Amino acid sequence: MSLSLSKRAQGVKPSSTLAITAKAKELKAKGVDVVGFGAGEPDFNTPDNINDCAIQAIREGFTKYTPASGLVELKQAVCDKFRTFNHLEYDTSQIVISNGGKHSLTNIFTAIINEGDEVIIPAPFWLSYPEIVRLAGGVPVIVNTSEEEGFKITPEKLAESCNDKTKAFILNTPSNPTGMIYTREELEALARVIVEKDIYVVADEMYEYLIYGEDEHVSIGSLGREIYERTITCSGLSKSYAMTGWRIGYTGASKEITKLMSSVQSHQTSNPNSIAQKAAIEALTGSQETMKKMVEEFAVRRDYIYSRVKNFPHAHALEPKGAFYLFVNVSEALQLSYKGKTVENTSTLADILLEDYGVAVVPCTDFGFPDYIRLSYAISKEQIGKGMDRIEKFLKELSGNGE
Ligand code: GLU
Repeated sequence: MSLSLSKRAQGVKPSSTLAITAKAKELKAKGVDVVGFGAGEPDFNTPDNINDCAIQAIREGFTKYTPASGLVELKQAVCDKFRTFNHLEYDTSQIVISNGGKHSLTNIFTAIINEGDEVIIPAPFWLSYPEIVRLAGGVPVIVNTSEEEGFKITPEKLAESCNDKTKAFILNTPSNPTGMIYTREELEALARVIVEKDIYVVADEMYEYLIYGEDEHVSIGSLGREIYERTITCSGLSKSYAMTGWRIGYTGASKEITKLMSSVQSHQTSNPNSIAQKAAIEALTGSQETMKKMVEEFAVRRDYIYSRVKNFPHAHALEPKGAFYLFVNVSEALQLSYKGKTVENTSTLADILLEDYGVAVVPCTDFGFPDYIRLSYAISKEQIGKGMDRIEKFLKELSGNGE
């Protein structure tokens, strides 16, 4: 048979965060003691008040189609949250409820990209961004940042990277994988470039509630009329409310873009799960106490994991300010050897850690930073302790073998 397949689909790599997590889960199921620093997934159960609403929805027969772009009541809850938390004014005609953050991003790029349009993505980046842009026919333009810059793109770099093909810029704060947060001043400076160059900014604010310490979350779209018009704000319930499996994401955008996203979604998936939408209404409008407790617990875990990495040989990290990832520079370890062989790259390092030490970590080649690994600390403090003991042991063995 000589039938060809889609070049666009063939150009997409499978998600390595999900693959690593699946591998760790498989080993655990076989009884292997594995600490999973893989996918960013809170270990908490979804809060009971949210679960109860979903159960009630099922019992009441709320199991049919809803409007394709989501329930008006949920859109209203999203608008209220945008107004009070993000200082963003959207009405329900500017909201689309989708099947998780990835789906929201897919809708966004399907709505704004024409073949060959460029999208600026600062590295390190969440590995799905370039793939989602490519799937929509766009061209990801990766712009490197550095540890010295706190892994944040400067307005100068953003301006230099724009040309007449540039359609959009992806901004992720707090950031996956670095945990860094853009300040109001930094965002104001980026906003000036975005307005001047007349491009869209896709603001992925999935980790907006997960901030530890003094930093504030600022939504770039709230910084004035001109930037608001060019901003597409995207968030979801997965991380803050421990609702990864429910698949609810949402966007706020101009009416024009929202209309396009809604019609695309109406053909591709119809509505997001009706029961999950009822649960989402409760998440956004019900008690926020459990969510706040989870954030407090993440702060404790952040402090702990950061205190541990500071004492590691051959590795270092910046203190994460938000999200639940520690982004670890292991370039020094890559010069050393393990069992007589040089640890060539972070994929090899991650394989050794999983197979010989029972720790799953994410090598960050697919995040645009090959000499780094990402550890998700959305697991219990005990598990973090056990995992960090194991990584430390491995790193100490490297120094013994390699020096
Ligand atoms: N967003 C999470 C992560 O970066 C979940 C896995 C994924 O979707 O990539 O780990």
